[in-house]
Amino acid sequence: MEELWGRKVLKKEIKDNEILVEEGQKLPTMKEVNDHKIQCLRCGQVQLKHTVRLMNQYYYCPECIQLGRVDTGRFFYHLPEPNPIKRRVHFAWKGELTEGQQQVSDALVASVKKAESRMIWAVTGAGKTEMLFQTIHYSLERGYRVGIASPRVDVCLELFPRIQAVFPDEPAILLHGNMKEDYAYTKLIVCTTHQLLHFYQAFDVLIIDEVDAFPFVGNLQLQYGVEQAIKKTCSLVYLTATPTKELTEKNTKNEVQISILPARYHRRILPVPKKKWCYKWHEKIKKGNCPKPLRDKIHTLVSKNDVLIFCPSISLMEQLKKAIEKIFLNIPIACVHSQDPERLEKVLNMRNKAYRILITSTILERGVTFDGVSVIVLGSNHDVFATSALVQIAGRVDRKKEYTAGEVWFLHDGCTKAMNSAIQQIVEMNTLGLERELLDEM
Ligand SMILES: [Zn+2]
Repeated sequence: MEELWGRKVLKKEIKDNEILVEEGQKLPTMKEVNDHKIQCLRCGQVQLKHTVRLMNQYYYCPECIQLGRVDTGRFFYHLPEPNPIKRRVHFAWKGELTEGQQQVSDALVASVKKAESRMIWAVTGAGKTEMLFQTIHYSLERGYRVGIASPRVDVCLELFPRIQAVFPDEPAILLHGNMKEDYAYTKLIVCTTHQLLHFYQAFDVLIIDEVDAFPFVGNLQLQYGVEQAIKKTCSLVYLTATPTKELTEKNTKNEVQISILPARYHRRILPVPKKKWCYKWHEKIKKGNCPKPLRDKIHTLVSKNDVLIFCPSISLMEQLKKAIEKIFLNIPIACVHSQDPERLEKVLNMRNKAYRILITSTILERGVTFDGVSVIVLGSNHDVFATSALVQIAGRVDRKKEYTAGEVWFLHDGCTKAMNSAIQQIVEMNTLGLERELLDEM
């Protein structure tokens, strides 16, 4: 029974399917929109009927087929989530929140009490996970079902043990596409946003991390999944360091409350990116040369810190590496990108100081922390570097407690709107942090 509570799954996804299929409620898998169109009720996408008709005249959904085929010959099985019952939940966190974190944490608990939605806009490196603990504890004690979802599986993998450590006696489950274990009912869930498509009116509190990150941002399937997964009365919590326009508009319309945390826990301002002209960087690297502004920057930065160089094109990386190696003969250097099979190992090597310079694609724009780094964004005027990406990249610097004078440099040959608005956003956050006395003057 429990297995179906708040779920919306196909028969083959159920463990004891013969028994549960009898007990579960049957829900339709697809809905006719009109004579020509049909909507999938798992991912919400609408299809032209003639493009998705099967041999047996059923219709199917191609959009979410990787989760198991939905067609009009099948049903979803579901049981309603039972009503919450108050209980005691062991809370083992012994840390302390900063003044700024505490304000956000209190606001969040208040929002859950009122079943309202709230966006937490916290600067990179603010320590946002800790701000959730009090809310999760309160919610679990109310008997609520709590989900913490992220678009990125590596974030889920890192988050799950941290959450478990805080609620050591609470059964919890981690759900993602590659998991081996069977699904089991728990009140506390960490999952990828894709996994939300298997839930139906399940969550009293749903926290979505990195709402601005790929693949969640602009993905209608995943947004439909969120709407389906929450109860009618529910608190949605959005976490972000770079909110989308859509979210800020929701705030303007009063659909979402907002808490801004403009300061990191160590009370230093965010490093503000500086711009440097680097003419025809692309062509020079293609010819095997390291552009002079880049060479000069590496030279000064590497004397104090390791250096991350963000490069907009994977095809240029190897050439860039060779060009830099020719000049900086004794400095260990590597390249990493999303297709790289040694990606995790290289990130670890950089953390362990086996390299001094790491050339990377945007994969390292978020979710990673290195000790003592400076950042260069080469060709920061390239299209891949949207405002949010640039804010995240700048946020890689000065995350640890010890100050290492890390810097952020945008090397470009034509300043973009994204570059200017990233800088402006960072400056505004610093100003706000100083006004609210959450930062110390340097
Ligand atoms: Zn679908």
